[in-house]
Parts: sequence; structure tokens; C-alpha cells
Amino acid sequence: MRRRTILAAGSALAGTVAAGFVSQPSGDHRLLTAAREPGDAGETNTNTERLLPGTVHETRLHEIDAPRDGPTAMVFGGIHGDERNGIAVAREITEWHPDAGTLVVVPETDRVAVENDEREGVDGNLNRHFPADREPVSELARGIWDAVETRDPDVVLDLHRSLGIYDFHRQYVGQAVFHSPDAHGDALADALDDDSVPWYLPFHRFTARETDLSGPLLFQKAARELEASTYLFETTEFLLDQPTRNEMTRLAAARVLELHGLLETGGDA
Ligand SMILES: [Zn+2]
Repeated sequence: MRRRTILAAGSALAGTVAAGFVSQPSGDHRLLTAAREPGDAGETNTNTERLLPGTVHETRLHEIDAPRDGPTAMVFGGIHGDERNGIAVAREITEWHPDAGTLVVVPETDRVAVENDEREGVDGNLNRHFPADREPVSELARGIWDAVETRDPDVVLDLHRSLGIYDFHRQYVGQAVFHSPDAHGDALADALDDDSVPWYLPFHRFTARETDLSGPLLFQKAARELEASTYLFETTEFLLDQPTRNEMTRLAAARVLELHGLLETGGDA
């Protein structure tokens, strides 16, 4: 497997030189196989409901119950409507089969923004609508927060993409895992480096950074008020094409589920 990986990286490098973008082939990673296929314990059971029904924000929430008890994880895509990796991967995750616990997915969190392919929806940047010591500041944010409070998740993962790279491009936050103090941020970043970052892109290695919980972002509020382990995942548009960003996002989501016990990979199989 190792040799094949290196060869794949080499051919991708040749493609990079020609096209100016990196395209990592989508691998049959054991984590993704575990995520996509039902485990030995049995089938999952999925319910779909509408959040904010009858409003312009109406959007779908998918709740997947695994055959065994375990933690509840929530995954959000489309809090920023032009960050297509998170939307595409969250849609895929609605078809995943966790082995334990409950997996709740909202692929198009700010549906107006997603439909317009724009960062912000009708009330501005949704990920600034969850300030400390106040209720969420827009109708959409209140509807999303109601859904979060109701599920009382143990884990929250919010999927994003940036234009540049954290600590490399000023003002940009790509290739980073922002996380609550008790989350497995370093383990996630290390695993992503092993799984998805080619050797010839050292600046694309992921940075894990503990977040300040006093801020107005959804993942900060969930950590602050529900004591959930929370993550905000960022990849980058810089030198990565859409399939590569999607693959990194997909692997990040599967790894978070594994780190928190919703997904079992059964060792080296
Ligand atoms: Zn974003």
C-alpha cells in the first residue's frame, strides 16, 4: 500500500506541474469504507426532518441512529454557502453508517447562502450569530441552536474552507483544525497529515489550534454551553482542487467520528 501511495503522489505531482493544482486521487481508505458500509452490529436507521419549516431558511436535518449506544455527533455543512466541500461532504455523510451512537447532519445550514453560492445569507455571516451570554442574534441562528440544544451533542464538527493557509497567508485560516480544549485536535491534524497531505506540500500540513470559547461561532457556543467536544475544520483553495478539498474534508469527518467512538475501523483490515 505504501508504494502505491507514493506512486500516486508522484503522478499527482506531475499533474500539479502541468495544471498548477494538486489533484489527489480519491483513495479507498479503510476509514471511509467503515463510514460508508454498515458494520457487524447491524443496520442504521435514518430520520429526516425540516428545520425552520415554512421560512426562507427551511433546511433538512438527518439523524442516523447506529445499532449500538454511543455518543451523539452533529456535523454542519454550509454555514458559509460558498464553501462547497463542507456542503458536498455533509450530503454524503447523510448516507454513512455509524457503528455506535447517533450521527446528526445538517448539510445546508444557511440554505439561502448555499443556494446563492455566497458566503453570507440574508442576515449576514451565520457563524458570528452565537455570542456569549445572549441568545443567537438571527432567526436562522436561533433555529439552528434549538436543534443543537435538543440533541445535546457530545461532539460538533463544522466544515469550512479558506482561501489561504493558516500561519502562512496572513488573514487566512486554511488547513487548520480549531477545537475546544477537550477535543482531539492534535490527533485529528496528525491523522489528516498522514491520510491526505502529500509530502511535496509541506505547507498544507494541518495545524491544530485550541479555540477561545468566548467567541460568537457555533462550535464555540456548543463547547461553552453544552460542554461538547467541538471542531471547526478548514481546508484551503490554495493549490488544491475541489476533489482534493472534498477528500480532506471527508477524511476529517470520518476521523472525528472514529476518535469519538461512533465509527469502528477494526484495526488494520
Ligand atoms: Zn467558512
